[in-house]
Amino acid sequence: MSATIIDGRAVAARVRGEVAQEVAAFVSAHERIPGLATVLVGDDPASAVYVGGKQRACEEVGMTAFDNRLPAASSSAEIAELLDDLNRDPAVSGVLLQLPLPSHLDGAELTAMIDPVKDVDGLTPVNTGSLSLGRPGLRPCTPLGVMELLAETDVPLEGAEAVVVGRSNLFGKPMAQLLLEANATVTVCHSRTRELAAVCRRAEVLIAAVGRPRLLTAEFIRPGAVVIDVGMNRISPEEAHNKSGLVGDVEFAAAAEIAAAITPVPGGVGPMTIALLLRNTLKAARMQAGVES
Ligand code: NAP
Repeated sequence: MSATIIDGRAVAARVRGEVAQEVAAFVSAHERIPGLATVLVGDDPASAVYVGGKQRACEEVGMTAFDNRLPAASSSAEIAELLDDLNRDPAVSGVLLQLPLPSHLDGAELTAMIDPVKDVDGLTPVNTGSLSLGRPGLRPCTPLGVMELLAETDVPLEGAEAVVVGRSNLFGKPMAQLLLEANATVTVCHSRTRELAAVCRRAEVLIAAVGRPRLLTAEFIRPGAVVIDVGMNRISPEEAHNKSGLVGDVEFAAAAEIAAAITPVPGGVGPMTIALLLRNTLKAARMQAGVES
């Protein structure tokens, strides 16, 4: 293996340490504690684990976590009422509506009800528009986490050929916008892209967020590229060759022979999302205190 392995756990731990210090400074300057309110609708076990992790991480950096849980059969109006209460509550700096919601609910419509200055997932139309216009605002956590990992690799983004595979609202589109903001030349691929391997092979920075185990094989990788694997696919531990059964969208062993740097799965992008959620919650508290735009 020739590639440098980008250690997302170490970078995430560094970011969490920085946030903890900044939270302490914020509390002494403003005499109030930043707070994150999570909203979980229903009892999906994976979502409950994610929300639990976010709650614990908040407390570890000195922020308050408010745990709101509603039954799966809740109506849109009931969730809207809770979001409205959280929007008005001065102890709540950030509001996170855990997605996906039960199928009778419209996640995008409910997300849009979050006050943009408390939208720590960066998914409301206002923050999505601000990103697109290059205006200040809260950005989605996973793409922000990828930018942090790219900064670790010292890869110059200005003028670089960057390819993002995946165009979801949650990840692919905001990732492409952040890369554009950093002056990369950005190509976004999706399920209808022709000659996907050839397009990916142009990339000095290749970012995969597809949700297909090991779709990107050696022929997709340009020699010396930086490869960021956002995919989180659960297969059997035997097939994955690890205990968690988690694999990415990139065939790691083959890609690591060709790339200059690569993120592993698990332990790459995954740990960054919560770290950047904490940073966003602090940013939201600072915006509400009028010390950041
Ligand atoms: P998504 O909404 O399902 O989007 C997947 C994208 O991949 C779509 O744009 C789709 O194209 C494209 N695609 C599907 N099959 C393809 C193919 N064969 N060739 C090229 N493109 C293809 O997924 P997502 O929410 O963006 O998540 C993607 C992956 O990232 C998942 O594994 C998810 O678990 C992971 N993820 C991880 C984190 C984290 O680490 N914290 C956060 C977010 C996502 P179309 O648009 O044409 O359908």
